[in-house]
Amino acid sequence: MPWQSNVRTVTPYVAGEQPGRADIIKLNTNESPYPPSPSVVAALAALDAADMRLYPDPDCGGLTRSLAAYHDLTPDQVFVGVGSDDVLALSFLTFYNSEKPILFPDVSYSFYPVWADLYRIPRQTVPLDDDFRLVKEDYLAQNGGIIFPNPNAPTGLFAELDVVEYIVAKNRGSVVIIDEAYIDFGGESALPLIKKYDNLLVVRTFSKSRALAGLRVGYALGQEKLISYLRDAKFATNSYTMNTAALALGDAALRDEAYFKAMTARIVSTRTWFKEELTGLGFIYPEPLGNFIFARHPRIGAAALFAALREDGILVRYWSLPRIDDYLRITIGSDEDMRRLSAFLARLCGSFA
Ligand code: PMP
Repeated sequence: MPWQSNVRTVTPYVAGEQPGRADIIKLNTNESPYPPSPSVVAALAALDAADMRLYPDPDCGGLTRSLAAYHDLTPDQVFVGVGSDDVLALSFLTFYNSEKPILFPDVSYSFYPVWADLYRIPRQTVPLDDDFRLVKEDYLAQNGGIIFPNPNAPTGLFAELDVVEYIVAKNRGSVVIIDEAYIDFGGESALPLIKKYDNLLVVRTFSKSRALAGLRVGYALGQEKLISYLRDAKFATNSYTMNTAALALGDAALRDEAYFKAMTARIVSTRTWFKEELTGLGFIYPEPLGNFIFARHPRIGAAALFAALREDGILVRYWSLPRIDDYLRITIGSDEDMRRLSAFLARLCGSFA
């Protein structure tokens, strides 16, 4: 069709399956196995459908102020969006506008190349070392921006803050985005560094540690100038990104620190238990700092494992991609889910022995 030459085409990101069945053990998208805080449940009950007549607050004022107070920042150092995917996509559009390529690890969040391609941003992947570790000296090449998750996804490995700071400090001419989707499960946040570096943006989400993937709340933290550019881009696209319910419930989640701490601790303790189970079965994995484990078995291929698990109603994530096609990414679910998975893996490993 003649109009097709005018179309902005892109190969989209493929999200993990959402089977919508209660009988599936769903360990494929790093969601929380636990419900959101009771204060979210109460805030949901208190919502009045009549209020939906009005547009939401375009500045996301309440949630922005709460996040600022929570992180000991000012509201103009906080930007709220529709999940961190929205914040990241807008950050690509805003900050990555150079002829030089943006840099990110070769094994990393597979949405990064998609946003780059959508916005026609040149990109260059930087290989992690053989143990999937980030090599800081490899980020000294000329670039139009840098991004990586920390802890990394899907590997789960954490790069120490001195590595992060080195990369930020050596790249003052570009914006460095640290995607901290999994930071509440381990590692140390780069947040304290934003006071020192005007080129550092830290991006967070309510989807994992606050059990609100369905609500879609994410945010970015950085110095005022960076945040003001994000706001400009948002108000040049859609003033009302955050709906009334998301603003209210997100705020409620943030106010229940005790529940947040208890749930993240529970997931970390299940992770510790499950690590030992995997080790006992002969699996190998990089040290997991997120709410997932990236594991391979020396004798059993990941594609076969993935298929067998799926057959048994257990969904994990598998990518048929260079360097990682031997691995499964397994979300840490409830203790019961993980016990079932472990028992199934034990039977499977036995039958392959
Ligand atoms: N960053 C990373 C590294 C992720 O794994 C995810 C989850 N797929 C996201 C960002 C996006 O999460 P959300 O949009 O739900 O905040």
